[in-house]
Amino acid sequence: MYHSDPRKSKMYKELAPRLAKYLTGIAFVIFMGNDEVEKDLINHMLLQFATNLRRLRVGLYRDDVGPHTHILDAIAHLQNLEEVTMDDIDYEEDVPLIAYDLVPRSLNHRLLNHILDHHAQRLRTLVLHSMHPIHETTFRKLRGTTPQLRRFECTRAISIETRAVFTEPQQWACADRLEHLYLRRCGVHAATVARHLAMGVFGKLRSLHMVMCGDNSDDSRERVGAGWTIPPLEKVEIEHFMDWEMDKLRTIHAKTVIATRVWSRRGLCVEAFGKTMTFPGAVELHVARTWDDEKFEELKRNCAKRGLTKVMRDHAPMASCFCHPD
Ligand SMILES: [Zn+2]
Repeated sequence: MYHSDPRKSKMYKELAPRLAKYLTGIAFVIFMGNDEVEKDLINHMLLQFATNLRRLRVGLYRDDVGPHTHILDAIAHLQNLEEVTMDDIDYEEDVPLIAYDLVPRSLNHRLLNHILDHHAQRLRTLVLHSMHPIHETTFRKLRGTTPQLRRFECTRAISIETRAVFTEPQQWACADRLEHLYLRRCGVHAATVARHLAMGVFGKLRSLHMVMCGDNSDDSRERVGAGWTIPPLEKVEIEHFMDWEMDKLRTIHAKTVIATRVWSRRGLCVEAFGKTMTFPGAVELHVARTWDDEKFEELKRNCAKRGLTKVMRDHAPMASCFCHPD
């Protein structure tokens, strides 16, 4: 979108007001450095005329603390914004999160708060893929002010600093609408998620996808301890959890279960799925395609005893780890 050539830039400035009104979605990067103001101004101009924009995808540099006043101002004025994705474009999977005390000054924090302050009532989809922990005050805002939210996806951004607030049994404002929840590598406790689901804290979810959440400081004795109060989920997808975490997660009522890298040994998984209280109501099970014939036959036999006859080994395993069979 940015042209250093002044002729192209001029042409762009002439075209933007005429064409931007036809845009329903846009993706751009907020740059850091010397020319951030000029690049922001061009995006600002485009957004200013994008009166029908519904979807916004913003790439951020994780160390950006710049003001970016123009771009934030333009985003505030998007009257039809419903779907927002925020990505760290220099995201690194195995690098520690940004320190929690640095969060309030980051662009990531300010942009997320800005979007919630101006668009929370309309927001239907929020996807956060970020090395920035969500501040607990931001999490409260997200939980309490987004009644239209259908889909919430969060990679890493709910950290242990926000775990206490996440654990509060406070129903989310979107509980009447939320359908899909995706939590990957977040500092949330398996027992908390299972308990929240059972109590309806997230409302009547249709699908849950959890990948490798939790923290070494989690208390394995934390109880799920609540009767199930919502309809069974249509689908639960669980990837990479410890045995004691599976004891919590298997209390989730769901029709289709997709389970990879669960339980530390295949035998434990086979045994668990033989019990009706493991994912009660399950009618379909998918495991990793790497299961050997012998154990897979055992799994099918055990599932059949509880009436779970649709069992498939067709799921792609994740990258290898040292704590699970593949
Ligand atoms: Zn593992």
